[in-house]
Amino acid sequence: MAGATPEVSICTWPFDAPFAYSMTYDEGTVDCLANALPVHEQFGFPGHVDVVAGQLGRRRQGWGSSLNDYVHMSAEELRFLLGKGWGVGNHSWSHYIYPTQAGLDLWREVVWSKYTLEDQLQHPVRIFTIPNDKHNYEPVLELVKQHYIGCAYIDGAPNREGFDLYKIGNFMVASGEISPHYDWKRELLTDNLSLEFLRDSWLYETSHLVMWNVPQAHKCVTPEDLTRRFARLQDISDGRLWAARPDDVLDYVRLRRSVGLNVIHATPEKVTFEFTGAWPIGTMDARLCVRVTGLRPATDVSVEYLPSPLPGGTLFGPGDSTRAGNNTYFMLAAVPGARVTIRAHGGGEAAEVTDGDG
Ligand SMILES: [Zn+2]
Repeated sequence: MAGATPEVSICTWPFDAPFAYSMTYDEGTVDCLANALPVHEQFGFPGHVDVVAGQLGRRRQGWGSSLNDYVHMSAEELRFLLGKGWGVGNHSWSHYIYPTQAGLDLWREVVWSKYTLEDQLQHPVRIFTIPNDKHNYEPVLELVKQHYIGCAYIDGAPNREGFDLYKIGNFMVASGEISPHYDWKRELLTDNLSLEFLRDSWLYETSHLVMWNVPQAHKCVTPEDLTRRFARLQDISDGRLWAARPDDVLDYVRLRRSVGLNVIHATPEKVTFEFTGAWPIGTMDARLCVRVTGLRPATDVSVEYLPSPLPGGTLFGPGDSTRAGNNTYFMLAAVPGARVTIRAHGGGEAAEVTDGDG
């Protein structure tokens, strides 16, 4: 059937979500487990905690820390959260302060702590979060780049196209006033949030304690304010935001930056393209969301992977697709070198086309 040639492209965020969103908690104290988790479950947003690896399950004893004596979650509690679909990152071994902390060993803070944390969690730890303040960033940056896929910074949210994976812009979610000493824009306050400001970005943000009477209102949040913020984010996006763990967003961004797509053949019934580029080392979720604009409406869609030009197996199966208007979306394993054919079956007025590949 004659029809406009469909267009095939990789979505900035899955299913053309207007922005990506990650909420994280530094320190990983037990109140977060008790008071933040239920709010996340109410909205279906996964969370993420960045933990002090040397103090799991213990009262906090950080060098000069204002949150000392609050209790960190144990490895078992963190494994429980991982089972709930949350993520865990490393917030260093001791919540170090460079260079004044006695006996400071940056290799232990960044590297050894990661691997002992992974042993305890039986789960990869791929994100490092700078403790305390900006002065702790530069001294560890090279070590972080060697062992992690991303590094969360102190301020600078939201993250827009081309952002530095090793300086992820952050916003402090708090019930009190935000500090004027950081690059935190007033547009990020809950009442000021707008789709225009966040469009296409990744809003990455952090709080600390989650309690009804927060002891430090400039860096901690009440469950009520957290609920209000999530509701606002859903509101401004019509529920279409991509709420995801930082691990998943980083996988997606890294893949999008290193894997491309080359259309070989496209008709309204059948689209063939190949993934180009290479997988970045350390990828856990290798899926990208592909948008086909102009595939004809169908009762069934199938997806076929041909290994050409690499040797390997062929995959064929029903396509897990979502239709919105003229767009059909597919979450596909973005295998570099694989040739993918998407076919529309049934439901349309046109008979299936059996033309050869172009
Ligand atoms: Zn911290």
